[in-house]
Amino acid sequence: MPRRRRQRGGDPYWLNLKFAGTCKKCGAKLAKGARAFYFPNGKYVVGSDCCGAAEKAAGDFNASAFDDAMMSGSW
Ligand SMILES: [Zn+2]
Repeated sequence: MPRRRRQRGGDPYWLNLKFAGTCKKCGAKLAKGARAFYFPNGKYVVGSDCCGAAEKAAGDFNASAFDDAMMSGSW
């Protein structure tokens, strides 16, 4: 039975911007090299220094990943 696994391509992740971007959450300009949280599915980033959306999103994602692990069960 195939295990449900996290899709490598779809997982959001931290990155340092290779070029200037815009925070999806608050619209702030994100400088090149700024730390941001990237969502491959939506192809957008949220910033950390501007509104803290990155930390929030990362926390939410980790929480849901944790739930996922609990629900799928390893016993
Ligand atoms: Zn922001």
